Amino acid sequence: MLILQVAIPVPLPRLFDYLPPKNILPEQIQVGMRVRVPFGKTVTVSEELSLLEPELKTSQLKTKSYVGIIVKLAENSDFLDKLKPALELLDSTPLLPPDLLQLFQWASDYYHYPLGEVINTALPNLLNQGTNANLESNHRLKLSMTATTLNFDNTKMSENARTILKLLHDYPDGLNRNSLLHQLPNAATTLRSLEKKGWIIAEEKSNYGVNQALHLNDAQKQAVDSILQHSKQFYPCLLDGVTGSGKTEVYLQIIEAILKQNKQALVLVPEINLTPQMIHRFEQRFHVPIAAFHSKLSDKERLQAWLSARDGESPIIIGTRSAVWTPLARPGVIIVDEEHDLSYKQQDRFRYSARDVAVVRAQRAKIPVVLGSATPSLDSLFNAQQQRYSHLILPERAGAAVHPSFKIIDMRRQPDKNPLSQSLQTAIQRCLDHRQQVLLFINRRGYAPTLMCYECDWVATCQHCDAKLTFHGDTQRLQCHHCGASRRIDPKCPKCGHPRLHLLGQGTERVEERLLESFPTARILRIDSDSTSSKRAMHTVLEKIHAGEVDILVGTQMLAKGHHFPKVTLVGVINIDGGLQGVDFRSSERVAQLVMQVAGRAGRADDPGLVLIQTFHPQHPLLLHLIGQGYHEFAQAALAEREEAEFPPFSRLALLRVEAMSREAALQFLEDAKRRAELLNSEQKVSFWGPVAAPMERKANKYRAQLLIQSPQRDALHRLLSQWLPTFPMFNSKLHWSLDVDPQDLL
Ligand code: ADP
Ligand code: ZN
Ligand code: ZN
Repeated sequence: MLILQVAIPVPLPRLFDYLPPKNILPEQIQVGMRVRVPFGKTVTVSEELSLLEPELKTSQLKTKSYVGIIVKLAENSDFLDKLKPALELLDSTPLLPPDLLQLFQWASDYYHYPLGEVINTALPNLLNQGTNANLESNHRLKLSMTATTLNFDNTKMSENARTILKLLHDYPDGLNRNSLLHQLPNAATTLRSLEKKGWIIAEEKSNYGVNQALHLNDAQKQAVDSILQHSKQFYPCLLDGVTGSGKTEVYLQIIEAILKQNKQALVLVPEINLTPQMIHRFEQRFHVPIAAFHSKLSDKERLQAWLSARDGESPIIIGTRSAVWTPLARPGVIIVDEEHDLSYKQQDRFRYSARDVAVVRAQRAKIPVVLGSATPSLDSLFNAQQQRYSHLILPERAGAAVHPSFKIIDMRRQPDKNPLSQSLQTAIQRCLDHRQQVLLFINRRGYAPTLMCYECDWVATCQHCDAKLTFHGDTQRLQCHHCGASRRIDPKCPKCGHPRLHLLGQGTERVEERLLESFPTARILRIDSDSTSSKRAMHTVLEKIHAGEVDILVGTQMLAKGHHFPKVTLVGVINIDGGLQGVDFRSSERVAQLVMQVAGRAGRADDPGLVLIQTFHPQHPLLLHLIGQGYHEFAQAALAEREEAEFPPFSRLALLRVEAMSREAALQFLEDAKRRAELLNSEQKVSFWGPVAAPMERKANKYRAQLLIQSPQRDALHRLLSQWLPTFPMFNSKLHWSLDVDPQDLL
């Protein structure tokens, strides 16, 4: 008997067995197809529900149904007498190519997350809902020159392939992909392999145009050459080049060569909506269909982009984190731009790192993967030093631009509480006089992060979190940046009744206000998630900046990501002291990256840039390293500290987090878990730190605690996790736990 082993999006780490749907022949069923299956207890619809939904009759039985993926076919099942038939077969050919299904399986094992939920996270919504997976294609398929010379009856190939080739032979002008699949409904998989072989080509491909590429400098040329020399094997490399050194140009020229080999390029970027310029450059260079996964896509467009990548009709695929799961008919290269960026790590539910998945994916597909950054993560730098990655360095800015110079401003010597020091103000004025742009960075939105009473030391805090409330001037309200709660500002101190309260510290709004006072004629633009929330707004903002309609930009890290602001010559970092004293072992790395990224916005064209950093800790070793010797020297020092402390990359971590209704419940859960883990740790290759309360213990009324699991050996850690996780209670309505493999922060 044929049994379908199906992955379903439920939080249980196993597959579920079903019989084939009624009226479906076993030979119609293949691994990688979707089925709709019944799941769970049958629910009796209660009277209340039938009042709400009159069409449901009282006590009518309702079974939940899910869309799942057939992962394996078996002959037998442990639950044979209890098996139900699947309700419906949703695909006539496998939706998921085998390599992608295997990647999902790897990710499920590595991140210890149920396969069904991995797949559910990775696929476009419409596919999860069971929508037809038909590519609406206007590509015409033709036999290639090689194929026209074949003798179909004598060449060794499958019957299916022969039928397809013969059909296309009758259409020398090409046949629309949809009409071909209509005539031969089971042809999709074979068609893909024939395209991969180069026997069938999509007509549009012959028109692939490439616009004028730049003449590469020596370092760029070396990088491109070394990647292309290894284009048919797994070749992981770190493209390490300061902002403006021409990394994007390197990507473009590698992709050009990959397209010529009739293969596809997958490009990951941290923030697609914030970087329309990146896509624009690709579109300018290549006249080919580009599948860009940005958030403006409708569900339908997203599905079509996914299918066009799977069927090989889009040679270039660009997207954020989740695009790493896009199927590729003919993978040629994967590029991860700004590889250090935190957004590559999903921070909830399925906590994967798209950068790490990209490397694994390239390894499995035997293709190069390029990790590009001006401020590489310590993990990648270490991999390069260990010669696991090849280290390609672009030391100079391309074209005419030169490196900016740095200066630290000691804020302890400022006479008043003005967030803009005297030196910064003077420098701003000089820029304005020369009609140059200024960029001011402050890592906090709102007006002021603290509302305080000087009489009794009361501070406005969130009712639901262990956090202070930020005052927002535009709404005149206090807001919690952790749970979103907000309330009106207190007219007097709620504790001692004193009528005067004080706003302390700086946010973007307050800095903007100060700028308006000091530079009344300057055109000032604030950019943070309050002022620039919609994608449209960001687009307008960027246009204004480029058109020179702005003199001073003030904003959060939204400004730091990948933008090119050629007219900016002065960058001011208002305050980074929060980051300097961070509690996390990665916080110094993050601050260093942020400072360098913001600094990289300065002086990209012909005017040299100046970066002024205001701090109350001018002697902080991190700052001195960074500014005195540069990012790489900083990174060496930081790596030495990590080695000393046995933190990654010198060890492997996993973090078990729990949220519960009380501190005791949270800690108790982790104590129990730790005890079970210690029983499995007979070889003592894994250490446990904690449990401890999370740095912000209470968030949205939940108490949070964590247990850190560490091992010098990745294998030992994962062996333990695999044995340990099955001992966890899956459903617990009182608390929520989650495991984070390779956590990016310990917060
Ligand atoms: P990155 O991606 O490292 O920030 P880009 O590729 O965007 O750098 O290059 C920065 C600027 O330098 C761009 O305006 C680009 O057109 C220009 N550029 C890049 N490579 C060259 C080159 N070989 N010759 C001249 N200009 C170049
Ligand atoms: Zn008070
Ligand atoms: Zn809150």
